[in-house]
Amino acid sequence: MQAEKVDVLVIGAGPAGTVAASIINQAGFKVAIVEKEKFPRFVIGESLLPKCMEPLEEAGFLEVLQKQGYQEKFGAKFVNSEEQVMDFNFANQFGNGRTWTWQVKRADFDKVLADEVERMGVPVAYETAVTAIKFDGTNSVTTVVEKSGAERNIEARFIVDASGYGRVIPRLFNLDRPSNLAPRKAFFTHIEDGRRANYIEPNRILIVDHKPGVWAWCIPFSDGISSCGFVGYPEFFDDFAGSLEEQLRSIIATEWSLADRFKECKFIFEPRILQGYSISTEKFFGDGFVLTGNVTEFLDPIFSSGVTLATVSSQLAANLAIRQLKGESVDWQKEYTDTMMIGVDTFRSYVMAWYDGTLQKIFFSGERNEEVTTQICSVLAGYVWDQENPYVKNHATCLQRLVRLIEVSKKLNQS
Ligand SMILES: Cc1cc2nc3c(=O)[nH]c(=O)nc-3n(C[C@H](O)[C@H](O)[C@H](O)COP(=O)(O)OP(=O)(O)OC[C@H]3O[C@@H](n4cnc5c(N)ncnc54)[C@H](O)[C@@H]3O)c2cc1C
Repeated sequence: MQAEKVDVLVIGAGPAGTVAASIINQAGFKVAIVEKEKFPRFVIGESLLPKCMEPLEEAGFLEVLQKQGYQEKFGAKFVNSEEQVMDFNFANQFGNGRTWTWQVKRADFDKVLADEVERMGVPVAYETAVTAIKFDGTNSVTTVVEKSGAERNIEARFIVDASGYGRVIPRLFNLDRPSNLAPRKAFFTHIEDGRRANYIEPNRILIVDHKPGVWAWCIPFSDGISSCGFVGYPEFFDDFAGSLEEQLRSIIATEWSLADRFKECKFIFEPRILQGYSISTEKFFGDGFVLTGNVTEFLDPIFSSGVTLATVSSQLAANLAIRQLKGESVDWQKEYTDTMMIGVDTFRSYVMAWYDGTLQKIFFSGERNEEVTTQICSVLAGYVWDQENPYVKNHATCLQRLVRLIEVSKKLNQS
């Protein structure tokens, strides 16, 4: 069998794959993408963060995305069961981060990116799944299987594994490691949101602190449909009976901020369940390959960090791969893994602070310090590498310290 030869093989045509492919292609290297599914295909991850506009821009995607009429997103609004509200507006950030992004149906968004990268000259082979990889130093031979069952080999000087939940290289080489986050379950659908105007403006997402350990999202799209889902400890969902649609309708009916808005509104598809999605890997790179996007470490959906980490990791990995292909030496541990982990660990602290109730104490305390709010807002906008921001630099301790200050201040006010 005559093998096809490329400089870089990218596995997966999600945002991580197309951003990496485009940047490496722009540098003049021969790139190909193999994608298991036929596009458009459903994937969850619909609320973007302003930070991801930077890798999308470097990949040359912003212009085509701007033509799509996606719902613009200017912030995030948190509410709790006592009807308390904490609103973050990305315009009020610490630093000079971007102030807006989009809320998108990923089937459509990912297809726009994949079509654009093809237009730029990168072939995308759909319905073509990677089944085996053999490395010989940094060179590799990847076996792919097409829908017809036909097998072919692709020789590459370097592989970017951007296979998302497919986790191709970690699975083939036994690199998967458990996450340190507790297992959670997500239950969601898209809903016709005809009464939207009575509730919130659509230009931001709504995050509902439903009860300890359980939260809900509402992400309005520009076509009048909204994504709505609940995330929580798996046993929470056992209390609801009936078909999947009946179960989700019953859960929505118990949430004051969503019940009237979505009552009797049409579900666009049967609710879906995802669980066990938080996962890590032993290493982010090896001889001849790098992992990007969800294949590295996926934390939790609470702060919409997935696509941002996916595109930022691909942007960084692509630029390092270009240097390596040009013969420069790259310290992948320091320049890639350690850099990415700064952002991942910052988000991890916030995810943990959400699930242990620390963030709710801050958001719904009624004590709003404008300076601190801008610093936390920058984290929520995806600027999790900015060491000038004390709420990034001291992410492991700053939130607990702030809660203690709020408690002391409340006591002083009472006395
Ligand atoms: C409940 C939930 C809600 C979420 N909400 C958000 C959100 O609001 N915002 C956000 O940013 N993120 C969110 N995420 C995370 C988001 O889904 C991911 O982080 C994001 O899709 C990662 O992009 P990616 O390009 O790495 O992977 P993907 O988008 O998953 O793309 C990977 C591609 O690789 C292909 N592939 C897989 N296996 C193979 C193979 N063997 N051969 C060839 N191709 C293969 C797949 O078909 C797929 O198209 C959420 C996640 C969950 C679980």
